[in-house]
Amino acid sequence: MDLETLRDASHDLLDDMVALRRTLHQWPEIGNDLPITRENVLEALDGLPLDVTLHETTSGIAALLEGGKPGPTVLLRGDMDALPLVEDTGLDFRSRSEGSMHACGHDTHTAMLVGAAKLLSAQRTGIAGRVLFMFQPGEEGNHGARFMLDEGLLDLPPARSDGSPSPVTAAYALHITSVLPTGWLSSRGGSIMAAADTMYITVKGRGGHASEPYRALDPIPIACEIVQALQTMITRRIDVFDPAVVTVGKIVAGTVNNIIPETAQIEGTIRAVSERTRRAVHDGIRRVAEGIAAAHDAEVDVVLEDGYPVTINDKSQADIALELASGLVGADKTIRMPNPIMGAEDFSYVLQEVPGAMVFLGGTHAERSLATAAPNHSNRVMFDEQAMITGTAMYAAMALNHLRS
Ligand SMILES: [Zn+2]
Ligand SMILES: [Zn+2]
Repeated sequence: MDLETLRDASHDLLDDMVALRRTLHQWPEIGNDLPITRENVLEALDGLPLDVTLHETTSGIAALLEGGKPGPTVLLRGDMDALPLVEDTGLDFRSRSEGSMHACGHDTHTAMLVGAAKLLSAQRTGIAGRVLFMFQPGEEGNHGARFMLDEGLLDLPPARSDGSPSPVTAAYALHITSVLPTGWLSSRGGSIMAAADTMYITVKGRGGHASEPYRALDPIPIACEIVQALQTMITRRIDVFDPAVVTVGKIVAGTVNNIIPETAQIEGTIRAVSERTRRAVHDGIRRVAEGIAAAHDAEVDVVLEDGYPVTINDKSQADIALELASGLVGADKTIRMPNPIMGAEDFSYVLQEVPGAMVFLGGTHAERSLATAAPNHSNRVMFDEQAMITGTAMYAAMALNHLRS
């Protein structure tokens, strides 16, 4: 099937995808337990020739399509969860669930993956291998992909037709983004998204009267020194060509102006695009916090929690995806990203197991300014549903390309 035909087939599915997307948008759910979302997806998949596995540790759905000829399995991922925000878009189909919103576009991902399941089911006889549709909850910090992998997502039975093994040999995901116009596609080989870890530092002093700091041990200036020194550590000790970000997003200490508190707490996020730098930053944070606390005779407790690992695209899979993108939307709308972005993704866990690629899909209407369009995670973000035509065709193209007979 050529790319133009795929695009037309995807276009024909747009009304269905828009309807599903709007239902999901009205009933957003957060985390790993998404009962309403799961029901809607199952209803939309009903009647397709899929072997559906309902995951038990989460609301994940694994749906397997077997082609007419033997071959390997390709995985397509769509995430389904929303964010804790009060929507402020004014859309007719805005969230009916107060305090939850599909502000990262996962409603479009889910609708597109259902669209791809329909499109590929119709092409089934010509497919040499299988397509595993991974409907994933809990992407926004809840490790949904990890749960699905741990529950055996990749442990597939042999092919039904001839009993031959058909392992997952490629995995692809799309993510809609406000930073590209509708229908543009971008990706890159190697690191594409950062690791995101969390840091908790507690400086332990001794409380006392604010007028007599020498009788106490004030944790506040020590905490301030640590915050400043972390930035020096990042710029002086981390390779600028393998960068990292440490941002302190929260400091808590004290109650009123005339009391020296016992403790000061610092919280922040750590981003890096290689494991090497990630570990160097963790070591640096400990060294700086412990060293500064020791210099002032205070104690410090440093807790560094690992979040999602670096998302690393397989180089040749990214090249394949970019070539398909270029054929689908044109070379002028296909971007080979010069740098990774500092956001994080739990599709990283899938890419640790299977070579594949994450691809970004433009979702800002061509008539709106990219500079001022509300970004992903904003309570005002609005994605152009026309982008789903490109996205669904791209999902299908990546699968079909991998399963050519
Ligand atoms: Zn997000
Ligand atoms: Zn997202």
